[in-house]
Amino acid sequence: MSGDLTELYQQVILDHNKRPRNRGRLPTANRVAHGENPTCGDQCSVYLRLEGDRVAEISFDGAGCAISQASASLMTTLVKGRTTDEARGLYEDFKRIVTTGEAPEEISDLAAFAGVHAFPARIKCATLGWHAALNALKGEAAPASTEGAGS
Ligand code: ZN
Repeated sequence: MSGDLTELYQQVILDHNKRPRNRGRLPTANRVAHGENPTCGDQCSVYLRLEGDRVAEISFDGAGCAISQASASLMTTLVKGRTTDEARGLYEDFKRIVTTGEAPEEISDLAAFAGVHAFPARIKCATLGWHAALNALKGEAAPASTEGAGS
């Protein structure tokens, strides 16, 4: 791997990795999905409680690299309180950032992951938690996979 990894691990990523938000099982969850990224060995489970069409509570649990865990942590803070459609929209923004490196200022914390685009193998790490969350919203029982993601 080449390139400057220090630039990749910006403050927001380091902070979420060190102090993950909404981490642990959510006892009141009515949707659960698990995702894994075999390429890197990342695991992520997302628990959420959907009330109507809104995510009332959300948490994640898992193990893996800093990118995957920080991304899942940040995802929970952004998706909480959103509708299913809003959550999908956030994921679309995030996917654009990590695949192109283009980060509009108003997207704030998500922009911390812009450096990921220079490391294509890490895109799957960054999107793992989002895939699990979207699958949980869809109510799919099957494990989420990031294989084929980024297209
Ligand atoms: Zn990873």
